[in-house]
Amino acid sequence: QVETLKTKILEQAQEICRLRSELDGTDTEKHRDLLADKNECLRQEVKVCEGELQGLRRQQQELCQDCAHFQENTRLQERLSQLQREVEETRAKLAELDLEVQQKTNRLAEVELRLKDSLAERAEEEERLSRRLRDSQETIASLKAQPQQIKYIIKTVEVESAKAKQALCESQSLNQYLQEQVGMQRQVLKEMEQQLQTSQKMAAQLRAQIMMYEAELERAHGQMLEEMQAMEEEKNRAIEEAFSRAQVEMKAVHENLAGEGWAHRVAQPVLRCRAASPSPCLMSAGVRTNLLTLQPALRTLTHDYNSLKCQVRDFPLLLQETLQSARAEISQAIEEVHSTNQELLRKYRRELQLRKKCHNELVRLKGNIRVFGRVRPIMKEDGEGPEAANAVTFDADDDAILHLLHKGKQVSFELDKVFPPQASQKEVFQEVQALVTSCIDGYNVCIFAYGQTGAGKTYTMEGTAANPGINQRALQLLFSEVRAKAVDWDYAISVSAVEIYNEALRDLLGKEPQEKLEIKLCPDGSGQLYVPGLTEFRVQSVEDINKVFEFGHVNRATECTNLNEHSSRSHALLIVTVRGLDRSTGLRTTGKLNLVDLAGSERVGRSGAEGSRLREAQHINKSLSALGDVIYALRSRQGHVPFRNSKLTYLLQDSLSGDSKTLMMVQVSPADKNTSETLCSLKFAERVRSVELGPVSRKAELASWPSQEQLESPGTTAPPGRGHASPSPGQLSGRAASIRRKLQTSG
Ligand code: ADP
Ligand code: MG
Repeated sequence: QVETLKTKILEQAQEICRLRSELDGTDTEKHRDLLADKNECLRQEVKVCEGELQGLRRQQQELCQDCAHFQENTRLQERLSQLQREVEETRAKLAELDLEVQQKTNRLAEVELRLKDSLAERAEEEERLSRRLRDSQETIASLKAQPQQIKYIIKTVEVESAKAKQALCESQSLNQYLQEQVGMQRQVLKEMEQQLQTSQKMAAQLRAQIMMYEAELERAHGQMLEEMQAMEEEKNRAIEEAFSRAQVEMKAVHENLAGEGWAHRVAQPVLRCRAASPSPCLMSAGVRTNLLTLQPALRTLTHDYNSLKCQVRDFPLLLQETLQSARAEISQAIEEVHSTNQELLRKYRRELQLRKKCHNELVRLKGNIRVFGRVRPIMKEDGEGPEAANAVTFDADDDAILHLLHKGKQVSFELDKVFPPQASQKEVFQEVQALVTSCIDGYNVCIFAYGQTGAGKTYTMEGTAANPGINQRALQLLFSEVRAKAVDWDYAISVSAVEIYNEALRDLLGKEPQEKLEIKLCPDGSGQLYVPGLTEFRVQSVEDINKVFEFGHVNRATECTNLNEHSSRSHALLIVTVRGLDRSTGLRTTGKLNLVDLAGSERVGRSGAEGSRLREAQHINKSLSALGDVIYALRSRQGHVPFRNSKLTYLLQDSLSGDSKTLMMVQVSPADKNTSETLCSLKFAERVRSVELGPVSRKAELASWPSQEQLESPGTTAPPGRGHASPSPGQLSGRAASIRRKLQTSG
């Protein structure tokens, strides 16, 4: 029995071994159960065997204490206990395996769950992709339905000939000469202004003197009247006195006569008028002598009286004459001052005219389309670490050059001017103000802020309350210029504010800001465009402007849930119209200043935008490349300019064409994480700027502006096929220099 048990245990051990090896397989659970069952059976069998063994042992002890079987038995017992130990060990191992099986089962369930999830996700993704496929197929179908677009091939050929160099030198010296002339004219103007001021001062002095003379005259007249009065009084008093004296003397004579009975004839003419005439009588000798002495006194008195009377009669005449001559002198002096003033004014006007011409010439020489770059400072919002590292550097000797470190390579760009991060709003405006002033002279001006969201477009255009941007500074400058010219001109400044979102035009100052506006041709046949129903506010002070801006902001904010996001996906335009009337000649001028905060130029299409976000991105893409196309066509003097390709260019048509002036302010962020967007913006800038201004050639007409998509491919050089027209010398130098620089950097 022991032998058989032993072999059974061995078999079991082998079976366990086999099972153990099988346990790693797939049907582990079943095996585990099987093993457990078998194990249980074995356990019971072992128990039975043990019972039997004990019985046998007892028998053995009784029967053969000393036989060989006993020793054999002991040996077997030991072997048994060893086997039991082995069974114990196997059991422990089994338990371990059990645990392992349990863990594996759990893991399997998890994997199953995950598989299910990912299957569901895949189905969703498939659904989404098929939806997008459908959309794109629709778009393609609609695009196919549209008339065939022209295929644009652009080629750039750089030529630097001796002739061009000479022409460049000439035009540079002309430019220099013109600038000097402008300087001189300015000087002359300043002098004239000073002369005008001094003559005005002199006129004021003369006027004051005249007033003083008049006051003196008045005073003299009063004095004279007083004197006349006093003389009159004195005369009366003298007459009174003479009369009373005569009376006294008469009395004395009467008394004498009464005594002597003597009539006095001589005194008669004197006394005839005054005395109560007594009858002629005799006079004594004393009285006669008295009378004789009185006579000369009386004569002098009469003489005095007569001369005084004469003087009094002549005095007003004399006064009149003096007054007249003084008046004549004064009016002559006034006449002289007036004529010098008139002359000065005439000269001043001529100088102003000349200044306007020179100013315009200067702006034209600098180029009617100019491109500036402005780099904002690194900010907290850019984060920390290598992402926020500065990737933009400047040229110490040339303020038109900017270097960008992109993916370890340095790329250089040349614009008309580059503003570093530390440039203040005031400095930026100083470069722009010449454009703003030419709007007073009746020119149309556009200033655009271009760049990715967060690059500082709104900061440059609107600024902050403490540090306003171009919009407010331009209006302030317009006010002060208009005030300075108020002597001859009447000006009216009005503003409108509109927004273009998804190619729909909205009035930000209107009562119904959600209403879509249309752009129409003027019915007067002038070919001008206008927007029926667009609100225009007349502004006269900074307070008025602030009110208008605030109103526009409120209107913009109420129409959308997130103003920041919305404003980065729409174009905001502030349109300032300056209407002038020259009072002396009746000449009228109208100039328009368009200040445009463009939508963010970042590439949205690539990041898998859908629905409304995709539509917004398509509209922005379309309008920005339309703007590029229009500027390209204008700079290369093409016959057809595609204004109608977007609402923005259509609305600004008359402010972009003809004698108009355009400034593109390209905003960039210097942060390392933004370099690919920065590269796109700078490429856009350089392309706007580098269009050649030569005679129109067939090829130039066929070439066109690269789409936003083309712009987006970083690291590409200018596409071939553009610019067969011979480059203007000024252009050539910039282009050639920048190409040379690029070659150097890439070399
Ligand atoms: P955008 O209109 O292009 O989206 P913002 O004008 O709103 O960008 O500018 C983003 C942030 O950067 C704003 O907080 C703004 O104040 C700041 N910022 C932009 N440019 C400058 C600058 N030159 N100096 C200081 N801060 C600036
Ligand atoms: Mg903005």
